[in-house]
Amino acid sequence: MSARILIVEDEPAIRDLLAINLRHAGFEPLHAPDAASARAQIDAALPDLVLLDWMLPDQSGIEIARKLRSDTRTREMPIIMLTARSAESDKLGGFDAGADDYVTKPFSPRELVARVRALLRRRAPEATDDPVEVAGLRLEPDTFRVIAEGAAIKMGPTEFRLLHYLMKNLDRVLSRGKLLDGVWGDHVFIEERTVDVHIRRLRLALQPSGHDRLIETVRGGGYRFLPQ
Ligand code: CA
Repeated sequence: MSARILIVEDEPAIRDLLAINLRHAGFEPLHAPDAASARAQIDAALPDLVLLDWMLPDQSGIEIARKLRSDTRTREMPIIMLTARSAESDKLGGFDAGADDYVTKPFSPRELVARVRALLRRRAPEATDDPVEVAGLRLEPDTFRVIAEGAAIKMGPTEFRLLHYLMKNLDRVLSRGKLLDGVWGDHVFIEERTVDVHIRRLRLALQPSGHDRLIETVRGGGYRFLPQ
């Protein structure tokens, strides 16, 4: 369940330093040496967060951030800009383009990992490993366990991710497209009715404890996980 962090950086030494520290912190680092490669990887599967270098060989990080923000599929993607520039005006430019946070090189790997964690908590809580509990139903991402009234509930990995996403987005109506993006990480090659298949399986798994009642079908909207 570790969050997938796409590192868009053309300098191999910095890329490797970031990857090592992210992996050590429990994240799954992915690499893109330029904008074209970043685009291809994001098209194939949405990462949970993008670390974006300002200076890239084919396009600036600013342009990439702008494009991500203008596309509905990637509009909410958490973005941290990486750059050697430290001038205040450049920083503002980064935020203007849609970056959520900004780290200036040279950076402390520990601080960078802390910023990645903080941003994921803020923007993509389902990608963190914090346990979550709703109405007596507890989900533990780090141990892959779901517990209701002291008993473990068995379910497949997709149902687990789906439940995690629903619980973290409590009381929000989530469209099938949104669920595909959040749970499958990609909705280009998967049909929306796949979501219904897994919701059905998830409801079956939650039936014995009665927690299936928390999954509401919203007509014409999608699904909502109720707080009680
Ligand atoms: Ca660079």
